[in-house]
Amino acid sequence: MQNQEIFSEIQKQRSKMAQTLMELIRIPAIAPENGGEGELKKAEKLTQTLASIGFDKIERHDAPDARVPSKRRPNIVAYYNGLDSAEKLWIVTHLDIVPPGEESLWTVTKPYEPKIKDERIYGRGSEDNTQSMIASIFAVKALKELGVRPKRTISLAFVADEEQGSKHGIQHLIKQNLFKPEDLIIVPDGGEGDGGFIEIAEKSALWFRIRTIGKQAHASRPGMGLNAHRVGMQFALALDKMLHERYSEKDKYFVPPESTIEPTKKQANVDAINIVPGEDAIYFDCRILPCYSLEDVISDINDLAKQFKSKTGADIKFEPVQKTVAPKPTDAKAKIVKMLAEAVRTVRKVEPRIGGIGGGTCAAYFRRIGVPAVVWSTIDETAHQPDEYAKIENLVNDAKVYACLAMS
Ligand SMILES: [Zn+2]
Repeated sequence: MQNQEIFSEIQKQRSKMAQTLMELIRIPAIAPENGGEGELKKAEKLTQTLASIGFDKIERHDAPDARVPSKRRPNIVAYYNGLDSAEKLWIVTHLDIVPPGEESLWTVTKPYEPKIKDERIYGRGSEDNTQSMIASIFAVKALKELGVRPKRTISLAFVADEEQGSKHGIQHLIKQNLFKPEDLIIVPDGGEGDGGFIEIAEKSALWFRIRTIGKQAHASRPGMGLNAHRVGMQFALALDKMLHERYSEKDKYFVPPESTIEPTKKQANVDAINIVPGEDAIYFDCRILPCYSLEDVISDINDLAKQFKSKTGADIKFEPVQKTVAPKPTDAKAKIVKMLAEAVRTVRKVEPRIGGIGGGTCAAYFRRIGVPAVVWSTIDETAHQPDEYAKIENLVNDAKVYACLAMS
Protein backbone atom coordinates (compact mmCIF):
# COMPACT_ATOMS: atom_id res chain seq x y z
CA MET A 1 0.00 0.00 0.00
CA GLN A 2 1.36 3.36 -1.03
CA ASN A 3 1.27 6.27 1.38
CA GLN A 4 -0.59 8.23 -1.28
CA GLU A 5 -3.64 5.94 -1.10
CA ILE A 6 -3.74 6.26 2.69
CA PHE A 7 -3.35 10.03 2.43
CA SER A 8 -6.30 10.35 0.08
CA GLU A 9 -8.40 8.16 2.38
CA ILE A 10 -7.54 10.51 5.27
CA GLN A 11 -8.36 13.49 3.06
CA LYS A 12 -11.81 11.96 2.41
CA GLN A 13 -12.46 11.89 6.17
CA ARG A 14 -11.85 15.64 6.49
CA SER A 15 -15.35 16.77 7.42
CA LYS A 16 -16.00 13.73 9.60
CA MET A 17 -12.83 14.55 11.53
CA ALA A 18 -13.96 18.13 12.07
CA GLN A 19 -17.41 16.96 13.20
CA THR A 20 -15.98 14.45 15.67
CA LEU A 21 -13.68 17.08 17.10
CA MET A 22 -16.61 19.44 17.62
CA GLU A 23 -18.67 16.75 19.35
CA LEU A 24 -15.93 16.36 21.92
CA ILE A 25 -15.56 20.10 22.54
CA ARG A 26 -19.24 20.12 23.60
CA ILE A 27 -18.34 17.89 26.55
CA PRO A 28 -16.05 19.79 28.95
CA ALA A 29 -13.61 17.66 30.96
CA ILE A 30 -12.31 19.82 33.76
CA ALA A 31 -10.26 18.70 36.73
CA PRO A 32 -11.69 18.86 40.27
CA GLU A 33 -8.91 21.34 41.15
CA ASN A 34 -10.67 23.76 38.79
CA GLY A 35 -14.17 22.90 39.99
CA GLY A 36 -14.88 20.29 37.31
CA GLU A 37 -16.30 16.77 37.32
CA GLY A 38 -13.36 15.12 35.55
CA GLU A 39 -13.29 13.37 32.18
CA LEU A 40 -15.83 10.54 32.43
CA LYS A 41 -18.57 11.94 30.14
CA LYS A 42 -16.06 12.82 27.45
CA ALA A 43 -14.44 9.39 27.80
CA GLU A 44 -17.80 7.69 27.30
CA LYS A 45 -18.45 9.64 24.13
CA LEU A 46 -14.95 8.89 22.89
CA THR A 47 -15.39 5.17 23.60
CA GLN A 48 -18.45 5.13 21.30
CA THR A 49 -16.38 6.69 18.53
CA LEU A 50 -13.55 4.20 19.03
CA ALA A 51 -15.96 1.26 19.05
CA SER A 52 -17.54 2.39 15.76
CA ILE A 53 -14.13 2.45 14.07
CA GLY A 54 -13.30 -1.11 15.02
CA PHE A 55 -10.09 -1.16 17.02
CA ASP A 56 -8.86 -4.65 17.92
CA LYS A 57 -9.00 -4.01 21.63
CA ILE A 58 -10.15 -1.17 23.87
CA GLU A 59 -9.08 -1.14 27.51
CA ARG A 60 -9.91 1.07 30.46
CA HIS A 61 -7.42 1.79 33.21
CA ASP A 62 -9.33 4.15 35.49
CA ALA A 63 -7.64 5.80 38.43
CA PRO A 64 -9.66 6.25 41.63
CA ASP A 65 -10.35 9.86 42.63
CA ALA A 66 -12.79 10.59 45.45
CA ARG A 67 -13.06 14.25 44.44
CA VAL A 68 -15.16 13.68 41.30
CA PRO A 69 -18.82 12.44 41.25
CA SER A 70 -17.92 9.19 39.43
CA LYS A 71 -15.01 8.60 41.85
CA ARG A 72 -12.73 7.73 38.94
CA ARG A 73 -10.61 9.32 36.28
CA PRO A 74 -10.80 7.46 32.97
CA ASN A 75 -7.79 6.36 30.94
CA ILE A 76 -8.52 4.59 27.65
CA VAL A 77 -6.14 2.53 25.52
CA ALA A 78 -7.17 1.41 22.02
CA TYR A 79 -5.06 -1.03 19.97
CA TYR A 80 -4.96 -1.60 16.23
CA ASN A 81 -2.76 -4.63 15.65
CA GLY A 82 0.16 -4.44 13.29
CA LEU A 83 2.03 -7.13 11.39
CA ASP A 84 4.64 -7.04 14.13
CA SER A 85 3.05 -6.72 17.55
CA ALA A 86 6.35 -6.76 19.47
CA GLU A 87 6.96 -3.07 18.87
CA LYS A 88 4.25 -0.54 19.51
CA LEU A 89 3.73 2.95 18.22
CA TRP A 90 2.02 4.91 20.98
CA ILE A 91 0.21 8.18 20.47
CA VAL A 92 -0.70 9.67 23.83
CA THR A 93 -3.25 12.48 24.08
CA HIS A 94 -5.12 13.90 27.04
CA LEU A 95 -8.86 14.12 27.66
CA ASP A 96 -8.90 16.99 30.15
CA ILE A 97 -9.03 20.67 29.30
CA VAL A 98 -8.34 23.89 31.18
CA PRO A 99 -11.30 26.15 32.06
CA PRO A 100 -12.27 28.80 29.47
CA GLY A 101 -11.04 31.76 31.52
CA GLU A 102 -12.84 35.10 31.12
CA GLU A 103 -15.76 34.16 28.85
CA SER A 104 -16.26 37.67 27.47
CA LEU A 105 -12.85 37.44 25.80
CA TRP A 106 -14.12 34.69 23.49
CA THR A 107 -15.05 36.60 20.32
CA VAL A 108 -15.83 33.89 17.75
CA THR A 109 -18.02 31.57 19.78
CA LYS A 110 -18.64 30.39 23.33
CA PRO A 111 -15.98 28.01 24.67
CA TYR A 112 -18.13 24.86 24.54
CA GLU A 113 -20.07 25.75 21.39
CA PRO A 114 -17.57 24.86 18.68
CA LYS A 115 -17.72 26.85 15.47
CA ILE A 116 -15.86 26.65 12.18
CA LYS A 117 -14.57 29.94 10.84
CA ASP A 118 -11.92 30.35 8.15
CA GLU A 119 -11.18 26.61 8.19
CA ARG A 120 -10.47 26.71 11.92
CA ILE A 121 -12.47 25.03 14.66
CA TYR A 122 -12.88 27.34 17.64
CA GLY A 123 -13.62 26.12 21.17
CA ARG A 124 -11.92 25.22 24.45
CA GLY A 125 -9.81 22.12 24.02
CA SER A 126 -9.85 22.27 20.22
CA GLU A 127 -6.07 22.54 19.94
CA ASP A 128 -5.20 21.24 23.41
CA ASN A 129 -5.51 18.31 22.99
CA THR A 130 -8.51 17.24 20.87
CA GLN A 131 -6.91 18.02 17.49
CA SER A 132 -4.20 15.43 18.05
CA MET A 133 -6.64 12.99 19.60
CA ILE A 134 -8.86 13.06 16.50
CA ALA A 135 -5.85 12.96 14.15
CA SER A 136 -4.55 9.81 15.86
CA ILE A 137 -7.97 8.12 15.71
CA PHE A 138 -8.52 8.91 12.05
CA ALA A 139 -5.07 7.71 11.04
CA VAL A 140 -6.24 4.31 12.28
CA LYS A 141 -9.69 4.69 10.71
CA ALA A 142 -8.10 5.29 7.29
CA LEU A 143 -6.01 2.11 7.58
CA LYS A 144 -9.04 0.15 8.74
CA GLU A 145 -11.21 1.44 5.85
CA LEU A 146 -8.52 0.37 3.38
CA GLY A 147 -8.10 -3.00 5.10
CA VAL A 148 -4.44 -2.25 5.78
CA ARG A 149 -2.51 -3.63 8.72
CA PRO A 150 0.30 -1.31 9.85
CA LYS A 151 3.87 -2.51 10.19
CA ARG A 152 3.69 -2.24 13.98
CA THR A 153 0.76 -2.10 16.41
CA ILE A 154 -0.71 1.34 16.88
CA SER A 155 -1.71 2.01 20.47
CA LEU A 156 -3.68 5.11 21.23
CA ALA A 157 -3.78 6.24 24.84
CA PHE A 158 -6.30 8.84 25.99
CA VAL A 159 -5.40 9.98 29.47
CA ALA A 160 -6.92 12.04 32.27
CA ASP A 161 -5.43 14.70 34.52
CA GLU A 162 -2.69 16.06 32.23
CA GLU A 163 -3.32 19.71 33.08
CA GLN A 164 -2.93 19.11 36.83
CA GLY A 165 0.16 16.94 37.02
CA SER A 166 -0.97 13.58 35.53
CA LYS A 167 -1.17 11.62 38.78
CA HIS A 168 -4.53 10.12 37.71
CA GLY A 169 -3.51 10.00 34.07
CA ILE A 170 -0.24 8.95 32.48
CA GLN A 171 1.43 8.29 35.82
CA HIS A 172 -1.32 5.80 36.62
CA LEU A 173 -1.05 4.21 33.17
CA ILE A 174 2.73 3.83 33.47
CA LYS A 175 2.18 1.91 36.71
CA GLN A 176 0.12 -0.66 34.76
CA ASN A 177 3.34 -1.68 32.94
CA LEU A 178 1.98 -1.04 29.45
CA PHE A 179 5.13 0.59 28.08
CA LYS A 180 8.46 -0.97 27.05
CA PRO A 181 11.80 0.73 26.33
CA GLU A 182 11.63 -0.41 22.66
CA ASP A 183 8.20 1.23 22.15
CA LEU A 184 7.91 4.34 20.01
CA ILE A 185 6.13 7.13 21.84
CA ILE A 186 4.66 10.37 20.57
CA VAL A 187 2.99 12.89 22.82
CA PRO A 188 1.34 15.37 20.44
CA ASP A 189 0.87 18.10 23.01
CA GLY A 190 3.15 20.82 21.69
CA GLY A 191 4.70 21.94 18.45
CA GLU A 192 4.90 24.75 15.96
CA GLY A 193 2.82 26.14 13.11
CA ASP A 194 4.71 24.44 10.27
CA GLY A 195 4.84 21.04 11.97
CA GLY A 196 8.63 21.14 11.86
CA PHE A 197 9.52 21.15 15.56
CA ILE A 198 10.27 17.89 17.38
CA GLU A 199 10.67 18.30 21.13
CA ILE A 200 13.01 15.96 22.97
CA ALA A 201 13.76 17.92 26.15
CA GLU A 202 12.00 20.14 28.61
CA LYS A 203 12.59 22.54 31.46
CA SER A 204 12.01 21.82 35.14
CA ALA A 205 8.65 23.05 36.39
CA LEU A 206 8.04 24.81 39.67
CA TRP A 207 4.52 26.00 40.48
CA PHE A 208 3.95 27.57 43.84
CA ARG A 209 1.67 29.70 45.96
CA ILE A 210 2.84 32.66 47.99
CA ARG A 211 0.58 33.18 50.98
CA THR A 212 0.85 36.46 52.84
CA ILE A 213 -0.68 36.73 56.29
CA GLY A 214 -1.28 40.14 57.84
CA LYS A 215 -4.19 41.39 59.94
CA GLN A 216 -7.69 42.19 58.72
CA ALA A 217 -9.12 45.64 59.49
CA HIS A 218 -11.74 48.19 58.42
CA ALA A 219 -10.45 50.01 55.34
CA SER A 220 -11.04 53.38 57.03
CA ARG A 221 -8.70 52.34 59.87
CA PRO A 222 -5.87 50.54 58.05
CA GLY A 223 -3.49 51.26 60.91
CA MET A 224 -5.41 48.78 63.06
CA GLY A 225 -4.46 45.96 60.71
CA LEU A 226 -1.73 44.88 58.34
CA ASN A 227 -2.69 44.85 54.66
CA ALA A 228 -1.69 41.41 53.39
CA HIS A 229 -2.65 42.36 49.82
CA ARG A 230 -0.20 45.29 49.70
CA VAL A 231 2.65 43.24 51.16
CA GLY A 232 1.73 40.35 48.87
CA MET A 233 1.91 42.57 45.77
CA GLN A 234 5.21 44.09 46.84
CA PHE A 235 6.65 40.68 47.56
CA ALA A 236 5.43 39.25 44.26
CA LEU A 237 7.09 42.05 42.31
CA ALA A 238 10.35 41.78 44.26
CA LEU A 239 10.34 37.99 43.81
CA ASP A 240 9.65 38.30 40.09
CA LYS A 241 12.60 40.69 39.69
CA MET A 242 14.99 38.65 41.86
CA LEU A 243 14.29 35.36 40.06
CA HIS A 244 14.61 36.92 36.61
CA GLU A 245 17.97 38.47 37.54
CA ARG A 246 19.39 35.39 39.23
CA TYR A 247 18.20 32.76 36.74
CA SER A 248 18.97 34.61 33.52
CA GLU A 249 21.03 31.98 31.67
CA LYS A 250 20.02 31.25 28.06
CA ASP A 251 20.20 27.95 26.20
CA LYS A 252 19.51 28.27 22.49
CA TYR A 253 18.46 24.61 22.34
CA PHE A 254 15.20 25.66 24.03
CA VAL A 255 12.17 27.65 22.87
CA PRO A 256 12.12 30.18 24.51
CA PRO A 257 15.85 30.07 25.34
CA GLU A 258 15.53 31.42 28.90
CA SER A 259 13.84 30.21 32.08
CA THR A 260 10.30 31.60 32.34
CA ILE A 261 9.03 33.04 35.62
CA GLU A 262 5.43 34.23 35.64
CA PRO A 263 3.06 35.40 38.39
CA THR A 264 -0.23 33.88 37.18
CA LYS A 265 -3.25 33.05 39.31
CA LYS A 266 -4.45 35.52 41.94
CA GLN A 267 -6.58 34.05 44.66
CA ALA A 268 -9.68 36.04 45.69
CA ASN A 269 -9.25 37.69 49.09
CA VAL A 270 -11.98 39.73 50.79
CA ASP A 271 -15.54 40.08 49.47
CA ALA A 272 -15.96 43.77 50.22
CA ILE A 273 -14.07 46.84 49.10
CA ASN A 274 -14.00 48.32 52.59
CA ILE A 275 -12.05 45.49 54.22
CA VAL A 276 -8.28 45.49 54.51
CA PRO A 277 -7.34 41.90 53.61
CA GLY A 278 -5.70 39.92 56.37
CA GLU A 279 -4.67 37.18 53.92
CA ASP A 280 -3.58 37.17 50.34
CA ALA A 281 -2.32 34.58 47.88
CA ILE A 282 -0.70 34.66 44.47
CA TYR A 283 0.67 31.84 42.32
CA PHE A 284 3.75 31.60 40.12
CA ASP A 285 4.45 29.29 37.19
CA CYS A 286 8.22 28.90 36.65
CA ARG A 287 9.88 26.78 33.94
CA ILE A 288 13.55 26.61 34.82
CA LEU A 289 16.39 25.56 32.50
CA PRO A 290 17.90 22.18 33.48
CA CYS A 291 21.25 23.87 34.24
CA TYR A 292 19.71 25.20 37.46
CA SER A 293 18.67 23.33 40.59
CA LEU A 294 15.08 23.82 41.79
CA GLU A 295 16.37 23.55 45.37
CA ASP A 296 18.42 26.71 44.79
CA VAL A 297 15.38 28.52 43.41
CA ILE A 298 13.31 27.48 46.43
CA SER A 299 15.95 28.53 48.92
CA ASP A 300 16.21 31.96 47.22
CA ILE A 301 12.43 32.38 47.50
CA ASN A 302 12.49 31.46 51.18
CA ASP A 303 15.36 33.88 51.88
CA LEU A 304 13.47 36.76 50.27
CA ALA A 305 10.34 35.80 52.23
CA LYS A 306 12.34 36.01 55.47
CA GLN A 307 13.64 39.47 54.55
CA PHE A 308 10.10 40.68 53.84
CA LYS A 309 8.82 39.23 57.08
CA SER A 310 11.32 41.14 59.16
CA LYS A 311 10.73 44.33 57.14
CA THR A 312 6.89 44.28 57.17
CA GLY A 313 5.79 42.03 60.00
CA ALA A 314 3.62 39.97 57.65
CA ASP A 315 4.18 36.24 57.46
CA ILE A 316 5.03 35.06 53.95
CA LYS A 317 4.74 31.37 53.17
CA PHE A 318 6.11 29.54 50.14
CA GLU A 319 3.86 26.60 49.27
CA PRO A 320 4.88 24.35 46.35
CA VAL A 321 2.04 23.13 44.10
CA GLN A 322 4.05 21.26 41.50
CA LYS A 323 7.76 20.52 41.41
CA THR A 324 9.02 18.52 38.45
CA VAL A 325 12.72 18.19 37.83
CA ALA A 326 13.40 17.86 34.09
CA PRO A 327 14.28 14.29 33.14
CA LYS A 328 17.20 13.34 30.90
CA PRO A 329 16.30 14.36 27.32
CA THR A 330 15.34 11.79 24.70
CA ASP A 331 18.39 10.97 22.54
CA ALA A 332 18.25 13.02 19.32
CA LYS A 333 19.32 9.83 17.52
CA ALA A 334 16.54 7.65 18.98
CA LYS A 335 14.51 5.61 16.48
CA ILE A 336 11.29 7.53 17.11
CA VAL A 337 13.05 10.87 16.46
CA LYS A 338 14.45 9.64 13.13
CA MET A 339 11.16 8.07 12.03
CA LEU A 340 9.15 11.14 12.94
CA ALA A 341 11.64 13.42 11.19
CA GLU A 342 11.24 11.35 8.02
CA ALA A 343 7.42 11.40 8.25
CA VAL A 344 7.49 15.18 8.77
CA ARG A 345 9.70 15.60 5.67
CA THR A 346 7.30 13.45 3.64
CA VAL A 347 4.04 15.09 4.71
CA ARG A 348 5.08 18.56 5.78
CA LYS A 349 7.91 19.17 3.31
CA VAL A 350 9.99 20.92 5.97
CA GLU A 351 13.33 20.05 7.51
CA PRO A 352 12.59 19.17 11.16
CA ARG A 353 14.16 21.13 14.01
CA ILE A 354 14.94 19.17 17.17
CA GLY A 355 15.04 20.91 20.55
CA GLY A 356 13.55 21.63 23.97
CA ILE A 357 10.57 23.59 25.34
CA GLY A 358 9.10 24.85 28.61
CA GLY A 359 7.49 21.48 28.93
CA GLY A 360 5.02 19.96 31.30
CA THR A 361 3.75 17.21 28.98
CA CYS A 362 3.27 13.48 29.52
CA ALA A 363 6.57 12.89 27.67
CA ALA A 364 8.56 13.72 30.81
CA TYR A 365 7.12 10.68 32.62
CA PHE A 366 8.26 8.37 29.83
CA ARG A 367 11.75 9.91 29.79
CA ARG A 368 11.93 9.39 33.53
CA ILE A 369 11.49 5.61 33.14
CA GLY A 370 13.98 5.51 30.28
CA VAL A 371 11.47 5.22 27.43
CA PRO A 372 12.30 7.64 24.60
CA ALA A 373 9.39 9.96 23.85
CA VAL A 374 8.94 12.93 21.54
CA VAL A 375 6.48 15.79 21.60
CA TRP A 376 5.23 16.87 18.22
CA SER A 377 2.14 18.28 16.52
CA THR A 378 1.22 21.11 14.17
CA ILE A 379 -0.38 23.94 16.10
CA ASP A 380 -0.57 27.72 16.24
CA GLU A 381 -0.16 27.59 20.05
CA THR A 382 -3.58 28.94 21.02
CA ALA A 383 -3.93 26.55 23.98
CA HIS A 384 -5.16 27.96 27.32
CA GLN A 385 -6.19 31.21 25.56
CA PRO A 386 -9.57 32.66 24.62
CA ASP A 387 -10.53 31.85 21.00
CA GLU A 388 -8.48 28.65 21.09
CA TYR A 389 -8.69 26.98 17.70
CA ALA A 390 -7.52 24.01 15.66
CA LYS A 391 -6.86 24.35 11.94
CA ILE A 392 -8.69 21.65 10.01
CA GLU A 393 -5.72 21.39 7.66
CA ASN A 394 -3.45 20.53 10.61
CA LEU A 395 -5.94 17.94 11.81
CA VAL A 396 -5.79 16.20 8.44
CA ASN A 397 -2.06 16.49 7.84
CA ASP A 398 -1.10 15.35 11.35
CA ALA A 399 -3.21 12.21 10.75
CA LYS A 400 -1.13 11.62 7.61
CA VAL A 401 2.08 11.88 9.63
CA TYR A 402 0.78 9.23 12.06
CA ALA A 403 -0.23 6.94 9.21
CA CYS A 404 3.23 7.37 7.70
CA LEU A 405 4.81 6.37 11.02
CA ALA A 406 2.59 3.33 11.33
CA MET A 407 3.61 2.12 7.87
CA SER A 408 7.33 2.97 7.93
ZN1 LIG B 1 -2.21 19.80 26.51
